[in-house]
Amino acid sequence: MKFKVGTLILAFVLLALFGCGEKPAGSQSSSRLLMGTLMTITLWSQEGETSRSAAAMQSAFGEMERIEKVMSSHLNTSAVGRINQAPRGQWHPLEEEVYHVLAESLRIAKLSQGAFEAGLWPLTNLWGFSREPPATAPPEMAKIESWRKGYPLGTAIQIRGETGGRQILLANEYVGLDLGAIAKGYAVDRALDHLAVLGFTNAIVNAGGNLGVNGSKGGTPWRIGIQHPRESQGVVAEVSLQKRMGLVTSGDYERFFMHEGKRYHHILDPQSGMPTANGVVSVTIQHPKAMTADALSTAAFVLGLDKGLELIRQEPGASALFILEDGRQVASGGFSYRWLGGGQ
Ligand code: FAD
Ligand code: MG
Repeated sequence: MKFKVGTLILAFVLLALFGCGEKPAGSQSSSRLLMGTLMTITLWSQEGETSRSAAAMQSAFGEMERIEKVMSSHLNTSAVGRINQAPRGQWHPLEEEVYHVLAESLRIAKLSQGAFEAGLWPLTNLWGFSREPPATAPPEMAKIESWRKGYPLGTAIQIRGETGGRQILLANEYVGLDLGAIAKGYAVDRALDHLAVLGFTNAIVNAGGNLGVNGSKGGTPWRIGIQHPRESQGVVAEVSLQKRMGLVTSGDYERFFMHEGKRYHHILDPQSGMPTANGVVSVTIQHPKAMTADALSTAAFVLGLDKGLELIRQEPGASALFILEDGRQVASGGFSYRWLGGGQ
């Protein structure tokens, strides 16, 4: 009888805690498909905050959806889509937000000596990694060759003007905006800002391997796994973070096809127009801004280990972990992680 009363009291306490829809302090996650990838937000919320945190996550997804509608090359109605349909060799009006992301794109393009290029839309279309259904064989090499000759590396995209009067010029028909290697990082930064304004400063926003972290998990660091490049469910390393930081990985496993025994993936070398082949299979970058980490991860991947490390050394606040085809892992100074082993 005594036991039954105790059980009743316990049930009552639990009902009081959960009955009104609130949970004790802890982490909560929510996911949504946006920008052609799975976005997941994880929040640490205090007791009594859980229904408010669910609303905050939906609101942050709304912000990322808004950014997709501005920055997607896949949408003819987006600001980027409209620029891609406009005549080349002429100045066109440019939205402030796109200017902001393009200014960072051009900075990283210069720093990486053209390994990162935001104007590859005609080339990425030729390869068809994000086509529906995705391509399963390489395009005709004559088409790649004509793109390579036509794309003016270094002068493909020009931007100018002051706030309220920004403009853009795309050099020729071989140039089209593709912010696929930077805009998810930007969206992650904006989602974290948005959550902080709503009072949630302990959060992770993960846009398909493009991650941003804020605060901690109730006082202990967030622990983030770095994906095994050859095992979709495997984790090769772990990073612990408890401050605002971007942690972004570019890998040859994200979008690829096998053709006649060869792997063709979506990270393209603007010099050759071909998927990068330099022995690197993934690069993870830490940088306080997820947008910059996103662009640097692609740039460092294209540059390869030695030049990639040199690039990271030039950018204050950046650090990198390279995973190579032969199973080695090489980290730059400042990249703190725990290797979980396995290799490839
Ligand atoms: P990253 O290394 O960060 O980026 C690689 C991508 O950037 C490539 O896929 C290519 O698009 C581009 N790229 C390749 N080489 C270079 C280079 N040297 N320099 C600069 N850029 C390069 N995918 C869909 O299938 N459907 C969609 O509707 C869709 N909408 C999107 C909307 C937005 C706003 C964004 C940002 C992405 C969208 N995507 C969509 C995904 C996109 O097409 C890329 O596949 C994705 O961004 C790859 O990101 P990543 O983090 O794996 O690799
Ligand atoms: Mg990137």
